[in-house]
Amino acid sequence: MNQYQSTGMKLTPQRLAVLEYLENNFEHPSAEDVYRAVSARFPTMSFATVYNTLEALRQRGEVAELSIDPNRKRFDPNPQPHNHLICTKCRKIIDIHIDYKIELPREAVRDFEITGSHIEFYGVCPECKKTDSEPLAPQKNQ
Ligand code: ZN
Ligand code: MN
Repeated sequence: MNQYQSTGMKLTPQRLAVLEYLENNFEHPSAEDVYRAVSARFPTMSFATVYNTLEALRQRGEVAELSIDPNRKRFDPNPQPHNHLICTKCRKIIDIHIDYKIELPREAVRDFEITGSHIEFYGVCPECKKTDSEPLAPQKNQ
């Protein structure tokens, strides 16, 4: 909770529940995931409340928004710069805390003031690899 105390957000029980769910969550949940988990405890919680809370946190830089899943926006409770490993089958997103010092050559920077970078590694996670290697159901003879 400490990490959010400085945000100056009004902490309603609903917002607190969203914050609690995000704390130490490394799954990079979507707004739908957060809603599903939190509405189990707060049945009166609306999706709009969840979404607005996530949006308020994003604007304050307390959570990062990831656009690496084409199907849905994902949220990262860790706003510190880090890289990601993404399973292209199940869309699992794993943190990589290795700092790659990427230097862009001056001509590529084109007078941009570079404020950050993010590396996405794509692949198939161990669980999906296991499912993949299971023998296919035998084909019916016609
Ligand atoms: Zn996977
Ligand atoms: Mn992350």
